[in-house]
Amino acid sequence: KTSFRLDKYLADMSVGTRSEVKNLIKKGLVTVNGEVIRKPEYKVDIEKDDLVCRGEPVVYQTLVYYMLNKPAGVISATNDPKQQTVLDLITDKSRKDLFPVGRLDKDTEGLLLITNDGDLAHQLLSPKKHVDKVYRARIEGQVTAEDAALFAKGLEIDDEDGAWRAMPAKLNILSSGPESEVEITIREGKFHQIKRMFEAVDKKVVYLKRLSMGSLRLDETLALGEYRELTEDEVQALK
Ligand code: URA
Repeated sequence: KTSFRLDKYLADMSVGTRSEVKNLIKKGLVTVNGEVIRKPEYKVDIEKDDLVCRGEPVVYQTLVYYMLNKPAGVISATNDPKQQTVLDLITDKSRKDLFPVGRLDKDTEGLLLITNDGDLAHQLLSPKKHVDKVYRARIEGQVTAEDAALFAKGLEIDDEDGAWRAMPAKLNILSSGPESEVEITIREGKFHQIKRMFEAVDKKVVYLKRLSMGSLRLDETLALGEYRELTEDEVQALK
């Protein structure tokens, strides 16, 4: 299918919401092949028609979204001369503009969103948006209710970055012993964030896996290294 309603085309290309773009069209701010079109239902052909909105060309670009169950041992980069990257695992990619949304450490597993949607990436990563990220972790040492209280308050951390305070995080202790199992929810995404938080309470993360990011949950049927496209519902829920 290569032809779409003018308002859908503009909304899909993130010019605005469906009602915002309808307004732009009705105000005569959109041209198709140089001609002002005031009908939102006007059919445009993505392969042939030239669209301009408020003087700016609006080029059709298909947005794609994959979730990867990242295995340990691959780095969260688009390409690297020596090491395997998460993009190397996306084998049927039809585009060259894909990138991972944020980073997981080389030894971290689990949910990684890979897309070419820069606006969505920005929304998910912006610290102001407070998108919850949930991780499962195994910790060397006994994790206590006291630790959970410190995490909830916002840990004071003093490391190579100097002194800083982590935002409140939810620490759910699943089992506690010489090695403990926890689920942790954070809103920031600083480099080595979770490892640094546990270091601040003298404990060591020995295994880390991301389970979710905002509304998006890792599909547990994906084996490590496997990926799939997001469903339409998953994409809409993230936006
Ligand atoms: N926190 C970490 O320490 N590492 C990750 O990969 C993600 C969060």
